[in-house]
Amino acid sequence: MSLFGAHFLRNINEYLGIINEDPVDIQFNPSGYLFLSSEKGAEILEENYRVQREQGAKVTLLSPDQLKRKFPWISTQDVALASYGLENEGWFDPWLLLTALRRKAMSMGVLHCHGEVTGFNSVKQKMLTADGELVTCKIIKQAIVQTQNSLENQPVDCMAVVNAAGAWSSKVAEMVGIGRGNPGSYENVRLPVEPRKRYIYMFHCPAGPGLDCPMLIDSSGVYFRREGMGGNYIGGLSPPEEEEPDTSNLDVDHEYFQQKVWPLLAHRVPVFESLKVKSAWAGFYDYNTYDQNGVIGIHPLVQNLYFACGFSGHGLQQAPAVGRAVAELLNSGQFTTLDLESFGFQRFISQQPIMEKNIV
Ligand SMILES: Cc1cc2nc3c(=O)[nH]c(=O)nc-3n(C[C@H](O)[C@H](O)[C@H](O)COP(=O)(O)OP(=O)(O)OC[C@H]3O[C@@H](n4cnc5c(N)ncnc54)[C@H](O)[C@@H]3O)c2cc1C
Repeated sequence: MSLFGAHFLRNINEYLGIINEDPVDIQFNPSGYLFLSSEKGAEILEENYRVQREQGAKVTLLSPDQLKRKFPWISTQDVALASYGLENEGWFDPWLLLTALRRKAMSMGVLHCHGEVTGFNSVKQKMLTADGELVTCKIIKQAIVQTQNSLENQPVDCMAVVNAAGAWSSKVAEMVGIGRGNPGSYENVRLPVEPRKRYIYMFHCPAGPGLDCPMLIDSSGVYFRREGMGGNYIGGLSPPEEEEPDTSNLDVDHEYFQQKVWPLLAHRVPVFESLKVKSAWAGFYDYNTYDQNGVIGIHPLVQNLYFACGFSGHGLQQAPAVGRAVAELLNSGQFTTLDLESFGFQRFISQQPIMEKNIV
């Protein structure tokens, strides 16, 4: 999925360019991702490396000595192994990508309407499953939409619905009864996606690593990358499950940087002892509590409801592949390029998690 994402971004004007309009520029900054692992995590890192190489990703492994030679500013203390991306990695401006996608879609006839879905009208049908269980299937007929200037919620007829509501997608799923059935029934299986607050801190360190600074993901979980060329960096750290912050607001916890993030940064990059925080912001991960991976495809019981949500912090890099996959399902009823069947909602019913290790 990420390989297709990289191809899409490299050739973005073939996909999103519009005749007689300025070419799309998403400010792509090529730079490798550098994952560091301790003795404990080295086996997983090697396994990930093998899988990625098999799929054609250009990644390489570095010993602590090789790491030190390539990035002398890193302290290799307690590093057993590193993996580094040689191609197809980097960062870009997601807002520019979203704007370009919307502009292209509208140039091809899509009508963009801004409003909040507050409910659905659906019809029900009783059906027997292969193992003889009686279940209630639904077909959504209308989405109820609140637009900014309308006095009443408007019903909008629909043939299909794609739930791409990010951190709020489980709330949208509940509007059609998903997760609200009798205990033990298929209808009672909820979409396990919820908001998880993550902080990003921007800091300044004039003596810090220069142009060759990769996106570094430390074995401790702390990560950072260069932001521009003026000695600025952005970074963060996902908290352990038991310390998840309150999600009722987007306030930033500045103490978290001082107490948790900074010591880890300075341990890995000693020059960061002199850094100064310039700004910070918070956002919500669309966090899949079941296996931290995306949910893609049709719901087994709501027969015209598709999911594209739950990406748990890696949704941007997968977005082009997910969009293509959902378009394939809508157009031809099946995946025709990448088979993403295993990312379906069904896995929550049949208890088949797709676990991935060493992700941010
Ligand atoms: C701090 C941070 C860092 C990240 N870093 C990376 C990264 O390095 N790489 C990466 O690949 N990903 C990263 N991500 C994850 C990535 O941003 C998300 O996975 C991605 O934005 C998900 O896109 P989406 O379109 O599915 O959802 P969103 O971008 O969340 O969009 C969902 C939309 O649905 C709308 N919506 C919700 N409810 C309703 C409703 N009832 N009616 C109508 N609309 C509704 C919302 O308003 C929103 O516009 C990061 C996320 C965060 C928070």
